[in-house]
Amino acid sequence: MSDLRLFYIDGSWVAPAQSNDFEVINPSNEEVCGTISLGGEADTNAAVEAARQAFDSWSQTSKDERIVLLEKLLSIYNSRADEMALAISTEMGAPIALSRTAQCGAGAAHIKNLIRALKGYEFERPLSERAADNRIIHEAVGVCALITPWNWPMNQVTLKVVAALATGCTMVLKPSEISPLSSMLFAEMIDQAGFPAGVFNLVNGDGLGVGSQLSGHPEVDLVSFTGSTRAGIAISKNAADTVKRVALELGGKGANIVFADADEKAVTRGVRQCFNNSGQSCNAPTRMLVERSLYEGAVQVAADIAAKTTVDRSEIDGRHIGPVVSQMQFDKIQALIETGISEGARLVAGGPGKPEGLEKGYFVKPTVFADVNNQMSIARDEIFGPVLTIIPFDSEEEAISIANDTPYGLTNYLQTQDSEKANRVARRLRSGMVQINGTFLGAGAPFGGYKQSGNGREGGVWGLEEFLEVKVISGWN
Ligand code: NAD
Repeated sequence: MSDLRLFYIDGSWVAPAQSNDFEVINPSNEEVCGTISLGGEADTNAAVEAARQAFDSWSQTSKDERIVLLEKLLSIYNSRADEMALAISTEMGAPIALSRTAQCGAGAAHIKNLIRALKGYEFERPLSERAADNRIIHEAVGVCALITPWNWPMNQVTLKVVAALATGCTMVLKPSEISPLSSMLFAEMIDQAGFPAGVFNLVNGDGLGVGSQLSGHPEVDLVSFTGSTRAGIAISKNAADTVKRVALELGGKGANIVFADADEKAVTRGVRQCFNNSGQSCNAPTRMLVERSLYEGAVQVAADIAAKTTVDRSEIDGRHIGPVVSQMQFDKIQALIETGISEGARLVAGGPGKPEGLEKGYFVKPTVFADVNNQMSIARDEIFGPVLTIIPFDSEEEAISIANDTPYGLTNYLQTQDSEKANRVARRLRSGMVQINGTFLGAGAPFGGYKQSGNGREGGVWGLEEFLEVKVISGWN
């Protein structure tokens, strides 16, 4: 990999204007696994300027020209998948098997699906049959700032970068400073694929530095952000003075409604989904709502699954869960577990402290709380660790009302074998996504939230349209 202290600006790897080293920590052993630079205003400006210079010609390329380059990128990504899986696993702690399949695999799937969406997308059409002299044109929004989190690094980066490239935008990517290794590797792949200089730029940095320089920059037309609701609010405020478009993919506190007629694997599936990626997924089903007649049995099953969930280092092969990403996240999760206990929830698995034998590294015990009520902090705050809360309910109405009683609205889940009830309840849930009986989102489905989970949609046609303006030309010949 190139020197990690460099940035990728205008088609070259360049040194930061001022050195400002930042250590990347491997969460499995708390050791430094790389040193990057945190950029400053001069670096941000240079990258935005390069993107601005490249915009005129890149935005005028044909769809076919862009497809050729994106297909090249996909083949390079696939050929370097092992390097990518290792980079992700080292920087954020996903066990190597999960990193190969879900983490690195998500990137490949998004590149492939966005190419497919691009192939089918009509950038131009008449307004209507009666107004054929009015032409509707979807065109690139301009220079985009892409700011991404650490929890699913390539999932987020590909959803943004590939959609921006596909639509003819130019961009500056600022990946999470906690997980920059995968993005540095991705920048190498873009370079290898031969995209013109300035189309894609990468500057490492933190939120207050490069992040806010980008969101406030007058030459940036759109900020596409994935991360915490806290940072999403700060970015929106900072972007307001220059009236740029802001697309937000924020946190979640998904409900998983388990009705008494759910299939027998429903509870197990829900617990595993909650603990996947050590609970560090915005769409994790972290509030399990269980119909009263099934409640005690479900609590027992959840406690058993948690006890059987093994925790280990990321480089070890297997189906265990890894550490959480940082000391800061570890401390936050521990504090919330303590709060759960003091608020009177019943701890049925896991709890405070590290699992036995894993004193070094940010390891958290898979934890389950029962008898939670929806006003407790552990039911309201995004914990972002392997912590499940279980809440009983007595009626369909009550389940819907608890599920919707949250500031978030990203993904909700429901489990029932009554298909009419499933569809009826799914319509009433205030979230961008609803998953029935464990059915995964299809290729090209829109990913995004309602309420404080954000306003953006990524993936497929919706992911492309996030990066497009609509123009009408009347008098078209
Ligand atoms: P974070 O908000 O701390 O950081 C995300 C990114 O924003 C990082 O690159 C960071 O440097 C930058 N940033 C932070 N403050 C900023 C500011 N004021 N201005 C500009 N940039 C700023 O989030 P995180 O801890 O990296 O990620 C976890 C969060 O991301 C969780 O809340 C999770 O739910 C959310 N997330 C949402 C989705 C989704 O699609 N809805 C997907 C993944 C993660």
